[in-house]
Amino acid sequence: AFRPADRIARLGVSEILQIGAKAAAMQRAGRPVIILGAGEPDFDTPSHVKQAAAEAMARGETKYTALDGTPALKAAIVEKFRRENGLDYTVAEITVAAGAKQVLYNAMMATLDPGDEVIIPTPCWTSYFDIVRIAGGVPVAVPCDGAQGFKLSPDALSAAITPKTRWVMLNSPSNPTGAAYAEADYRPLLDVLLAHPQVWLLVDDMYEHICYEGFRFTTPAALEPRLKGRILTVNGVSKAYAMTGWRIGYAGGPEALIKAMAVVQSQSTSCPSSISQAAALAALNGPQDLLAARAADFQRRRDLVVAGLNAIPGITCRVPEGAFYTFADCSGLIGATTPEGGTITTDREFCAWLLETAEVAMVPGAAFGLSPYFRISYATSEAELREALARISAACARLR
Ligand code: PLP
Repeated sequence: AFRPADRIARLGVSEILQIGAKAAAMQRAGRPVIILGAGEPDFDTPSHVKQAAAEAMARGETKYTALDGTPALKAAIVEKFRRENGLDYTVAEITVAAGAKQVLYNAMMATLDPGDEVIIPTPCWTSYFDIVRIAGGVPVAVPCDGAQGFKLSPDALSAAITPKTRWVMLNSPSNPTGAAYAEADYRPLLDVLLAHPQVWLLVDDMYEHICYEGFRFTTPAALEPRLKGRILTVNGVSKAYAMTGWRIGYAGGPEALIKAMAVVQSQSTSCPSSISQAAALAALNGPQDLLAARAADFQRRRDLVVAGLNAIPGITCRVPEGAFYTFADCSGLIGATTPEGGTITTDREFCAWLLETAEVAMVPGAAFGLSPYFRISYATSEAELREALARISAACARLR
């Protein structure tokens, strides 16, 4: 009989993917399900990016490339960090992989020994936990609730650090909450880390370009040069340029770490896709004005969704600073009775009931480590968002 390895035996397929699969099956069965679960922009990849990929293919750039990124793409990433973040990395401090997810995976595989701890504020993107586990590490969750803006406090960080701590992972703006760390939020956390030289910091800046009016994005390696030698700054083209399927993520960090990550990559994917690297090069070196235009579109949708949710009795939702998610509190509906005679006891049950009766798919907070909440991804059209809000509101009005 089949026996999985211990390292994956306790892991399951992501709940987000399971809900997406169920909603898609309902759609195939003819039901008009609105899916607010997707973690990708609904925009198309910019045409100049597609064009660059086609030209690369025509030129014959269809072979293996350098292990962790072409020299041209690494140079463009160096320039991106300088231009947008005020960060000086050399080419030797840059890595490119098949998505930011592979960057995180390489980093954990390259650094964790069995039992090493990684501090992860929750709610968080679910992959963090399982990537740490596959690499043999122990994820240490630090719950950060809505009252503290879903952000890690310096006291909670200090309390979570042990002699076994190797990494802290921070994600701003965040999936699933949309909360983002301003300079004033980061400062006290960086002060804590200065006092713990064995702890490294991984920052996931994937949603950097989806930040809203009044919020100024910043990143720790730029804020605290004394920590730059133990920070991995992770980013990618998936969310910024609507390029999730191209699979290109990258990072800047200390050369010794980058080299160790390359060892992991050399025995897994060998290199990211040559064609996708040419496309990412065009995205980073090409016109950037589309970023602000898209962020403005997302901001209109955010305002629509936050207002719509807060108008529903029993649901409250803070205004996110970025990304394309809202993480709403549904504690006011826990314990309610449905028209079918059941009781809603958890956020999982709330989401399952809404999918069944209102035909709206959302992901329960439990999937991200904090209940009772639910996540809405508003990377979909305003018309669809209005319809979804109307359905959620009508369904909730029938709860007693
Ligand atoms: N980090 C966060 C917080 C994400 O939400 C995602 C995608 O959902 C990623 C990283 C991975 O992005 P990719 O592997 O497409 O670069």
